[in-house]
Order: sequence, then C-alpha cells, then structure tokens
Amino acid sequence: MNKLCKMLLTISIVFFPSLGLASKVVIRDYSTSIVGDFGPRRIIDDGVSKCDFHKGLDLKGVSGDAFPLVENGTVNYLGFTQNGGAKSGIFYARVDGDKKYRYMHMFSNVTVTASNLLPINSGNFTLAQTTESKAYAIIYWTNKVEKRAKYIISDIAGQTVKIGDRIIRKEVGDEFAETTDNVSVVDNPYIGPIGTSGNFPSHMHIDMGLNVNVNPLNYITHENAVAYEMGLWDKNNKTRDESWVISDKIADSYYLKITVTSKETLNLDKVLIYVDSAAEKNLLREYSYGGRAGENPLNTLVENGDCSDGLKDGVYSVDLDGNGESDVGNERFIFSKWADSKDVKTHLKIENLSAGNHSLIIRKLLKMQLVMKVIHSFI
Ligand SMILES: [Zn+2]
Repeated sequence: MNKLCKMLLTISIVFFPSLGLASKVVIRDYSTSIVGDFGPRRIIDDGVSKCDFHKGLDLKGVSGDAFPLVENGTVNYLGFTQNGGAKSGIFYARVDGDKKYRYMHMFSNVTVTASNLLPINSGNFTLAQTTESKAYAIIYWTNKVEKRAKYIISDIAGQTVKIGDRIIRKEVGDEFAETTDNVSVVDNPYIGPIGTSGNFPSHMHIDMGLNVNVNPLNYITHENAVAYEMGLWDKNNKTRDESWVISDKIADSYYLKITVTSKETLNLDKVLIYVDSAAEKNLLREYSYGGRAGENPLNTLVENGDCSDGLKDGVYSVDLDGNGESDVGNERFIFSKWADSKDVKTHLKIENLSAGNHSLIIRKLLKMQLVMKVIHSFI
C-alpha cells in the first residue's frame, strides 16, 4: 500500500430520519412552551455578549398567570435572589419535596427594596407579609373583594396576613386564614403568579436548586414533537457530502462541525462522536451538558471555558439575529483536533485508521435515549 493511499479516506454520509422532541411542557392541566432551554447559551450581561450556562428551563407565560406547583413539598424560601448586581431582585419560591424546585421571576413591579410597597397584586395573587413575622406571603384569592383566600403560602406556617386593617379570612366562615408552608398539588395547585421580577421579560424559570445541574425536563412531562435536525458541516459551514475525504495532513479535511437544530424541543444534553461503532472504545469525542438525573454535576465544556465562537472547539450557541444573545435550539459542536488532540485514542487517530471505508457515528442523547445516528463511510 503506498503512503498516499493510506492517508486518504473518503467518507459518505447517510442521514436517518430525525425524531422529534418536546415543544410543550405539561404540568397537570397547565400547558406552555419552552422559551429557554437547559444548557449553554449566549447572553448579554452588563452590555457584553458572553457565554453562559442556563441551569433551568424558561417557560412562556404572561405576567399574572397562575403557575402550577410542580410537586408537593415544603416552602423553604420565599423572597429575593441574594446574588446582588443586575440579577438581584428576582422573587422566587423554593419548594423542597422529593426533589427541589425553584420558581423564579414571580410578580412584576417588585424590587428588593420595595417591601414597604406591599401588597402587590398580580392576577389572582397578592404578595403581602405575615402579621406576626413579616415574612413574605403569597395569597391565592377565592374572593379578593371580601378578602377571602383559598390559601396563603409562606415559608413560615401558621401566620395571619393583614391587608389594610383586615385580616384575611378563609374562603368560607369567619376563621382567619393561616399561612401554610407544606404545599400539595391537591390543596395548593398554584405556587404563584408568573412575573417579571429581576427586570426580565415575563416568564417562569424553573430549576432544581441554586447551581443544581439537573434539567427539570427529566421530571416534567413534555410532548414529543417536531422540527429536529442534525447535520455535519465543514469549517466553511458547508454540509459534508458523500465524497468527503479526510487526511491527517489537511486540517480542514477533518474539521467537524455538528449542527443541531431543536428549536421547539430543547432537551439536548449530550452529543457523542464515534468512529466505526458506537462502542466506548471507539468514542472520539463527547460533548456533555450534564443535566440528567444522577449525572455528575460537573458538566459542560461551556462552563469550563470551552465556549466556541463558531470556529474554535467547543459548543457554540448560535446568535441568529446578531443581537448578542443566542436563539434557543440552534447549536454547533465543533471538534477540529481529530488528528492533533492528545485526548484522541491512539487507534482512532486518523493516521492509524486503515485506508478505505470508515463510519462516523454521531449520537445525540435526550431523555436518555438514542435519537439519531449519522453515518459516514470512508471509501
Ligand atoms: Zn431562566
């Protein structure tokens, strides 16, 4: 075999039909869509466009809409985020049950320093303070005019709430309504109103705790749907075609840019690239967000600084309209070091592959299942 022959391999691509994933999130009788997914993204922070890792889900919603309690638990926090700066002023509830959920951005026109402006009304809810401890309390009204509540949520139980000079009463009878911190989807179907607190556009952000790296979609029902595409591009954003030839002497020939478009779905958490077979020993490269149940929270190439600008290695969240923020569901996974990287297993290095046909298998995992496979065969 001459040397040139050994160095040149051609690759063809077969696309398998793509499977859809979720556009809608369903919590009992409540249904909404995802406007921000779990994973890497590009945001504008203090006027600067930068990479970020979103450890939660952003759900579409109008200010004042009642947002459902996802799971039973104890309200262990009701108040503002503590992290200061531009991101402070987000009002949220944390409910600890079998799992921990945080519900963020509740109420609009509320700021950290506005406690003296309470109560704040929003939809069928009012944010107030308890009479005894001055703890925050969310009233869910049965009859707001008569000051009757279905229930009042607070992180301190057994307290009353006064609006003006009247103590809130139960929905029927003369008894005063007391706050509850143990909430259930039967007795307390709504945690509170969707809002804009923290100066964000109206939406509900759900996550599973401060810096907890678990995608809530692991636990929240979402419909399998539509519009899911995967492809493999070269450095110039041209689709690799059936006459793709790779050589370890030509860097552009083995530049891999995997494109994933999941605009309406968004449970992407891992992309794996294999050579010839999808066996662990043949794993060429893995892009992992973490975010699945039981996974090591140390994730994301993006968090570790491996944030691509669209050319260099890493994950690139595409900013389609050039406004400095990425648009959900458009991602690129770039690996340019097949020939050079010390991390590539010896037998997978291009120079060690036999001449002729090989397969490049690209897997994308979501909800712990294989979704699609792209095969390249080297000729
Ligand atoms: Zn969010």
